Amino acid sequence: MVSQTTRIAVIGGGMGGLTAAIALTRIAEVQVTVFERASKLGEVGAGVTVAPNAQRVLDTLGVLEQVKRAGAVPEGHGVYQDAMGRLVTDAAWEDSAKQYRNIGMYRPDLIDVLAREVNPETIRLGHKLVSVSAQDSGVHVEFENGVRDVFDAVVGADGIHSVVRGAVGQFPDPVYSGYMVYRGVVDASRLPEDWPRISQVWMGNKRHFMCYPLQQGKLFNFVAGVPSDRPLQGPWSGPAEVGELAAEFAGDGWDQSLHRFMREIDETFWWGLFDHEPLTNWSKGPIALLGDAAHTMLPHQGQGVNQAIEDSMALATFLRAAESVAEIPEAFRRYTSVRMQRTAILQHGSRRAGAMFDAQYEFADLKKRDADLRVGRDFRRSAVFDYDAKKVAERALNRFRRIA
Ligand SMILES: Cc1cc2nc3c(=O)[nH]c(=O)nc-3n(C[C@H](O)[C@H](O)[C@H](O)COP(=O)(O)OP(=O)(O)OC[C@H]3O[C@@H](n4cnc5c(N)ncnc54)[C@H](O)[C@@H]3O)c2cc1C
Repeated sequence: MVSQTTRIAVIGGGMGGLTAAIALTRIAEVQVTVFERASKLGEVGAGVTVAPNAQRVLDTLGVLEQVKRAGAVPEGHGVYQDAMGRLVTDAAWEDSAKQYRNIGMYRPDLIDVLAREVNPETIRLGHKLVSVSAQDSGVHVEFENGVRDVFDAVVGADGIHSVVRGAVGQFPDPVYSGYMVYRGVVDASRLPEDWPRISQVWMGNKRHFMCYPLQQGKLFNFVAGVPSDRPLQGPWSGPAEVGELAAEFAGDGWDQSLHRFMREIDETFWWGLFDHEPLTNWSKGPIALLGDAAHTMLPHQGQGVNQAIEDSMALATFLRAAESVAEIPEAFRRYTSVRMQRTAILQHGSRRAGAMFDAQYEFADLKKRDADLRVGRDFRRSAVFDYDAKKVAERALNRFRRIA
């Protein structure tokens, strides 16, 4: 087994990097240092759903109860509705065993919960990685502030614009979806008492609006997807006027209940939706990728962070089985082969889910769209939510051992 003197650098202190740090410390029992370019850990003021497949990992890591306390479990299954609020289908929200149910998390809260599980002395803020290279003496990293260091291995959890990705020979072009989202939160006390504490999606006119509870029901997250070429003309995100969001869903063609919710929006920001084609490799020698750096996907299946959490468990499981530092490249290869297949399917599925919500391509035929959404619920539960990242990695390890 790699020892406690094995030094691993995790680049990026987002939700993926922090979970990786927890898993590598607790499961692989190596020394981890997290390098984050920002001067403090943080996230945008919006929500994220922690799904059953990630909760299974967080449970094993001893973090699930903290996440649950900070988040909100909806009071029932979610709903997909047409623009007037007529039910199309209910949504998957729990695993088959009904052990784990979606948790809505305010992103800054999730960062706080995860960061509290990492030794603060091992987090280096204000460290923007500018170069990484594997040499005989170890993996050399250099930061914009002039700091240099050498590690036994490096994990790139540095997001969609990953610098580490270049060191594994991957340079994917970002692909714009043609959609941006307006994002933000609403204070739940301003909504009617009987406002459903569930996830709701309204779909119509090639756009969609989603809301779900956060923070024990004190807040509601909203995400409104609209067609736009704005992110192609400059930055990929920015502040937005509430009025422009309201205009996107104005008129009698939309449910009054949605308008009731939207009246309580005081602030919003816009965010362009980009992904990339699945990479052809995630590791080279003692350098590996994790989270969005490895598999940026559109948000329509709510799986980006959840996959980063699964990655963390798989990475730690393979690393734990490495006998020495010399075996880390093989551990990373194994991690890569197990994880890439799953996330490639979800990258594709997320594009497809977005096309369904917004009635694009063949889903302009709403009968087809609605049929696919209805069966999608069961697929999501069995194929996505029931996945056990630890078991899959352990099974693969046994197989690797048998054929080694
Ligand atoms: C509208 C929307 C809704 C979403 N909803 C969900 C959801 O419900 N469920 C879900 O699972 N996913 C969701 N996602 C996806 C999710 O947000 C991402 O998958 C997730 O943030 C990826 O985490 P990460 O840690 O891999 O990357 P990031 O969050 O991008 O974090 C990367 C970190 O690395 C740091 N960094 C970058 N470059 C460097 C460098 N050179 N040196 C040092 N540090 C660096 C950054 O500052 C950042 O802290 C959604 C995405 C969007 C856009």
